[in-house]
Amino acid sequence: MVKVMDGLNSMPWTRLGPLANGWTVEGTHIPPRDRFKYGYDLWSNGLAFEAFGIGRTYKVTIRAPEYGDGVWLFNFDTQGRAVNVSYTGTYWGTARLPNPELKMDFRLLPYPRYRPEMHRLIGGTWLRAKWTDNIDRSGLNYRAEILRESDPFYQAAMATLDEFVRQCMTGGLSADSADAAELIAIYRTLPVRHHLELQQESARFHGILQTCGDIPVEPPELAYDHYHAIPLKVQHGCGGPCTFCSLYDRRIRILSEEDTRRQIDDMAGYLGEELDHFSKVVLLEGDALTVPSEQLATELHYARQRFAIEHVPFAHAFAKASTVMKRSRQELQLLKDSGLLNVNFGLESGSQELLDLVKRGQNLSEFHDTVALLREIGINVSINIICGLGGVEFRDRHIEETVKFVQSLPPGTKVFYSTLQISPTSRYARKQSAMFGGEVATDDIDRDKEKFARELGAAEYLFVPM
Ligand code: SF4
Repeated sequence: MVKVMDGLNSMPWTRLGPLANGWTVEGTHIPPRDRFKYGYDLWSNGLAFEAFGIGRTYKVTIRAPEYGDGVWLFNFDTQGRAVNVSYTGTYWGTARLPNPELKMDFRLLPYPRYRPEMHRLIGGTWLRAKWTDNIDRSGLNYRAEILRESDPFYQAAMATLDEFVRQCMTGGLSADSADAAELIAIYRTLPVRHHLELQQESARFHGILQTCGDIPVEPPELAYDHYHAIPLKVQHGCGGPCTFCSLYDRRIRILSEEDTRRQIDDMAGYLGEELDHFSKVVLLEGDALTVPSEQLATELHYARQRFAIEHVPFAHAFAKASTVMKRSRQELQLLKDSGLLNVNFGLESGSQELLDLVKRGQNLSEFHDTVALLREIGINVSINIICGLGGVEFRDRHIEETVKFVQSLPPGTKVFYSTLQISPTSRYARKQSAMFGGEVATDDIDRDKEKFARELGAAEYLFVPM
């Protein structure tokens, strides 16, 4: 539910500066907002809703007419971490900052209403802005692209940030009013962090979760809510034998209750005052309900208490239906009462023959019964299907049988699709031509997506690593 506009950009700005290098700096401090009131800003392009996760915000603009034709805007969270950066111009120093190209899956608004922009997620991944193209129907289309360190916009933004932080911390920022002096003191106390410290923060986040590198922690049903969800790893791996995937370690390792409690404490420390606007938890990794139910219930209680989350239910979990079906009704009821809100299953396909061929280890009739039981108990279910699974050989059957199977599931089951990503070293990749007649062409995949959207109301699932 999007609450629009709380007037953040109408706060008064204080001139701070100029910096010793001649750049002009202004700053403002947005006071804390109501708990659970989403910090949505309506930017000047009028369409891009932004949900950077902030309860209290510190904003800085930087301009230097001889150096660049635009204005930088940095937003910092209460830990001094930049969470959002935008620029209104096309160049800064020698860096050219063009609009993203269409291949990036954005529907762009005509310049100058568009501006380059990036957002830092909870774990440190930078994303290019998200855009919506059917806001009139309140259907916010999710658009995201990961910004790599080689991207000129990232580099220019980080160089500008570093220069601001350096001058702020070493006295290069001069105050010519009491308000300015107060604001500069706040930035030093936070303290605002330069880009290497931001990277250290990312490493700290991954260390807490004991993950290395990118992890897709955003369940699809949280597409516009992920700034408000705290990831927690309650088990390691997924236990899936699927031939096409190498997302997680195959072996399941359940984290002890003590480890999970420590993780919850560390995550609370990482978020600090930012905890105020987090209202959900996402349980990692691939099969959270493999954790014994009583233990998981206790962990959920502790997380809710430690993160001061008032809403119940509040937890999303990735799980396997074949695991959930081994849980009794009483156990599932206990988990619901402890806050389990939504379980996300990878259905992948409604063709039993295809599932067996890719070693999915999933019986469709059991999957159906598991979804029905969860819905009966009042736990929401979202499912994912994979476009392109089974290649050319299975294309028609995959689509038809999946549509039929999903339509047989209880109403209210949310459906998402993604495109097949094959691990190059996987068995699937080696056998693809012989077993499945090769990959489905991109145009056909697009047609399949349209069919899933039309007939199942399915939405696209983009993996967004934190
Ligand atoms: S598809 Fe799911 S269950 Fe299968 S290997 Fe991948 S993450 Fe594991």
